[in-house]
Amino acid sequence: MTNAIVFLGIQGSGKGTQAKLLAEWTGYQHVNIGDLFREQIASQSEIGQLVKSIIARGDLVDDDTVFKLISSSLQPSIAGIIFDGFPRNRAQAKFLMANYKLQRVYYLSLGQAEALKRITSRRVCSSCGENYNLISRTPKLEGICDLCGGELKQRGDDSDAAIAQRVKEFYAQTYSLKKLFADSGLLLSIPASKGIVEISEDIKEDFNSL
Ligand code: AMP
Repeated sequence: MTNAIVFLGIQGSGKGTQAKLLAEWTGYQHVNIGDLFREQIASQSEIGQLVKSIIARGDLVDDDTVFKLISSSLQPSIAGIIFDGFPRNRAQAKFLMANYKLQRVYYLSLGQAEALKRITSRRVCSSCGENYNLISRTPKLEGICDLCGGELKQRGDDSDAAIAQRVKEFYAQTYSLKKLFADSGLLLSIPASKGIVEISEDIKEDFNSL
């Protein structure tokens, strides 16, 4: 079975940033389900058409579509996978544990108020997809990507209503997975308020001990 690492946490906790850093360091494939869905929507594929309105509302996409998308996006002969935004409910957690060798779940803990502040400050480059944050990672020039000069925008599903719905879904369906993984001895909880580099160092040190 393929090795897997999971990043769990409320929206805005920095899962994506840490998952990307760990993927670069380990050579594991980084799988961000939300990004995969946004690519499908942009290319107007069949899956894209199917999930567009669901994602715009901030609801969860059905499990079978998520499983299909994961299977179709995995690269051959990889050392492992880093899941970011998956699993989000019990059925997905079961699927994960049945099909992968789960090595560790990193839980980035952050309160709801701070999470909401971070998500509303999130900006993404409309050309290259680089992520910014108006509080913690500001671009050198307002509204312009440091890397490619593209225009920075709010994500389409970062409307106030969709954000509120995603946070609601997190507490209704995802939060209980923290206990599930803790009971299996797989969870490492890290305060998301620590700096990006500090969190990344903690994770690397832990990963080396696996
Ligand atoms: P994210 O970028 O992680 O906030 O995900 C954006 C949207 O993609 C979510 O609001 C869901 O509609 C969908 N999505 C992402 N991951 C999953 C998942 N594991 N299960 C179901 N829907 C998902």
